[in-house]
Amino acid sequence: MRTIAVTGTASGLGAATRRRLLGRGDRVIGVDRRDADVVADLSSAPGRDHAVEAVLDASGGRLDGVVSCAGLGPYEPPEPVTRVNYFGAIALLDQLRGALGRGREPAAVAIASVGAAFEQLVDPAVIEACHSGDEERAVALLRGGDGNTAYVTCKRALALAVRRRAAEWGALGIRLNAVAPGKMETPMLAGLLAHEGLGPAVEALPVGLGRTAPPEEIAGAVLFLLDSDASYVHGQVLFVDGGSEAIVRPDQV
Ligand code: NAD
Repeated sequence: MRTIAVTGTASGLGAATRRRLLGRGDRVIGVDRRDADVVADLSSAPGRDHAVEAVLDASGGRLDGVVSCAGLGPYEPPEPVTRVNYFGAIALLDQLRGALGRGREPAAVAIASVGAAFEQLVDPAVIEACHSGDEERAVALLRGGDGNTAYVTCKRALALAVRRRAAEWGALGIRLNAVAPGKMETPMLAGLLAHEGLGPAVEALPVGLGRTAPPEEIAGAVLFLLDSDASYVHGQVLFVDGGSEAIVRPDQV
């Protein structure tokens, strides 16, 4: 039995990941702003600190895995999107790294998005603010824009932050990867499709396999990255999107 902390367990991918981990006998410490073992708001530093303290308390300071999955959709305002999707996500990973260091074959997974591939929407200054930990600057730069730009920027910053940690985390024996889901059948996708501005663009995003995916299918990739079958996979962003990213940018590897 492994002990895994998962954020966003009240819904969608976090809930599916929790179900699959529990189903095979792992212990899950779920974190969400509602209906979770640890109820915490990851949009603020005090909320993140509370989440970390409660997870450390529940785990005895030792974790075998962390999945940073909680997130807000692109239809939300840019400020909360930035605070939760980048700063909340990376804070939990960084602040639980010590507990992972005491775990068995430890591994962590960040949840990015196929949106991370749309670099033409991204202002490098915001990425820089994210990576330097300047939350207020990132929020200020994205203020006045739309939630989708903030969403894509934060998911790209998160995917890059995973890659930038490969040396440091690897030296500690902790694997860190990201899953970048495509169109996944959760309340977030429903919210996107119902949105007047974003719905048509989401509909238009091509999917090679020609279908959307239930969150359990994406959770399969999360479990793979947590497990010893992925023992040499580190610093990667795995697009689990039915082929969308490959179709949108076929020349990138
Ligand atoms: P969802 O809305 O079903 O679940 C998101 C969860 O995050 C919810 O339980 C919510 O309460 C929690 N959350 C939001 N803000 C929080 C906060 N401030 N503090 C604590 N918890 C908070 O969405 P989902 O589709 O399951 O999304 C899971 C992850 O997958 C997100 O990071 C999302 O960006 C990403 N993603 C989703 C899709 C998709 O098509 N659904 C595609 C790409 C990436």
